Amino acid sequence: MNDMVGELLDPILSNPAVTLARQLCVLFFVVFTCALIFWTWRDAQRRGSMAWFWALVVLLFNLAGWAIYMVVRPPELAEDAHERDLEIRAREAELQRNPVCPACFTPVDPEYLICPSCMKQLKKPCTNCERPLKLDWGVCPYCRTKQ
Ligand SMILES: [Zn+2]
Ligand SMILES: [Zn+2]
Repeated sequence: MNDMVGELLDPILSNPAVTLARQLCVLFFVVFTCALIFWTWRDAQRRGSMAWFWALVVLLFNLAGWAIYMVVRPPELAEDAHERDLEIRAREAELQRNPVCPACFTPVDPEYLICPSCMKQLKKPCTNCERPLKLDWGVCPYCRTKQ
């Protein structure tokens, strides 16, 4: 039975067109794998995960490795995370430039001695030059008078 199948298939398998098709399939597979490895490597790098490790996983397990990567890869791009970080820092810097009352969060001027909204004491006047000083400062930085 096996011989018969072999005899039937032999002329087909040794047909130059079939051989060429098989070689093309192998070529396509190799190109596809390379592209998959490259894509995974670049994607992992952009997401800030171990690019070489994932490229190796795809090289070893092909589509199965790629599927694992797609499941466990970090959800956001490293660039996005970096951008969001910058945004938060910019907002913090803005808050420092525009201070707010620590008690009621009303925007206050850095020169204010008390909060106009809740009357919380924010600064103390220098005993000599009356400029606003932070409550914990022991000396006036403007006129060098000890408080
Ligand atoms: Zn206040
Ligand atoms: Zn002073």
